[in-house]
Amino acid sequence: MTTALPMPTLSAGTAGLHLEGVALASIAERFGTPTYVYSRAALTAAYAAYQQALGERKALVCYAVKANSSLGVLSVFARLGAGFDIVSGGELARVLAAGGDAGKVIFSGVGKTAAEMRFALDAGIGCFNVESAAELDRLNDVAAAAGKRAPIAFRVNPDVNPNTHPYISTGLRSNKFGVAFDEALDLYRKAARLPHIEISGIDCHIGSQLLDPAPMTEAAEKILGLVDQLGREGIKLDHIDLGGGLGIRYRDEEPPTPSIYLKPLLDCFAGRDEALCFEPGRSLVGNAGLLLTRIEYLKPGVEKNFAIIDAAMNDLARPALYDAYHEIVAVAPRAVPASRYEVVGPICESGDFLGHDRDLSVAAGDLLAILSAGAYGMTMSSNYNTRPRAAEVLVDGDAVHLIRERETLSHLLKGETPLA
Ligand SMILES: *Cc1c(COP(=O)(O)O)cnc(C)c1O
Repeated sequence: MTTALPMPTLSAGTAGLHLEGVALASIAERFGTPTYVYSRAALTAAYAAYQQALGERKALVCYAVKANSSLGVLSVFARLGAGFDIVSGGELARVLAAGGDAGKVIFSGVGKTAAEMRFALDAGIGCFNVESAAELDRLNDVAAAAGKRAPIAFRVNPDVNPNTHPYISTGLRSNKFGVAFDEALDLYRKAARLPHIEISGIDCHIGSQLLDPAPMTEAAEKILGLVDQLGREGIKLDHIDLGGGLGIRYRDEEPPTPSIYLKPLLDCFAGRDEALCFEPGRSLVGNAGLLLTRIEYLKPGVEKNFAIIDAAMNDLARPALYDAYHEIVAVAPRAVPASRYEVVGPICESGDFLGHDRDLSVAAGDLLAILSAGAYGMTMSSNYNTRPRAAEVLVDGDAVHLIRERETLSHLLKGETPLA
């Protein structure tokens, strides 16, 4: 294979593709397919790139759990000392189970329930990113009942256009996230008067799969103006959270490295006391994972040839959902000319495709690797068509750890009752 693969720890060897020191074929043999396969070295390197970019700056990288919330993956980041950005009580339970430090957890999301707030307060999380006036009132009440003060930041909507897919752009005035920039000052004044609220920081997150640092820098400058305005009113912040969103290469994108991406932001906040926070998800896990799948059937057609695989849109929804592109490669390409295939799953939906028009040298029964599937893969999977969810394994050098068993049909039927 001559074309560069987007995944740093994936390489072609004599026994086909390897992730770190492990042949993908051996994983399929041992654990079956479809299986998500992650590389500990790639996770570690992605985190280190942020640490390196931040240097000596007082800063915290809070991994956005929704990108990949498997305990095995979370435990890698917990051991590296990462913080975590969560969006539900369930994600908090995962972080705690994986050995994460509650004090480094920030809780984002527009719809936190009172029960989730109480759970997070009792766990002692670092900060609630509050997204509305109503949420602030509820949090004050819940904290009062718990006899605590809740540390907060407002998620402020800087109204910049990140030039990304409309479903994953979140910083525009027209979407549901955050509080309007013009209302933020009044909300901080209100928060300062609430007895069970402790103002800790400010937060923004403008979107996902960002490839250009310019919109982020524009947002940071607007946020900075607000921070200074708050300071003049005697409201001092401990931290400034600039969210996540850095993109990755799926096909031929050329995303900036964390050090290039963060440079203008660090410049913008140079010489300031506040800690900086970031909430990267995709850029920490996306290219550390792939979905390993087997071709069930090749089905030649008049207009299209189909490669029908044992993974589907329930395993990896991004192609069906966003028309997202994932590189698909044969684990051990055959010495025959490539044919062009629609790579599809067995689900009863025309949208059940993993890739269009892919040139593959394969036969039925061969293994394929769907690349760059570490982020928003397993976490967005479902049981549609009563399909058990895939297994997940984590490769570490020459070792392979099963971090999630493949679901069985009894998992799927559990808790259901037919009428008598
Ligand atoms: C989804 C999300 C992130 C992570 O986004 P990535 O694009 O995966 O880096 C960070 N913060 C918030 C509030 C989010 O909703």
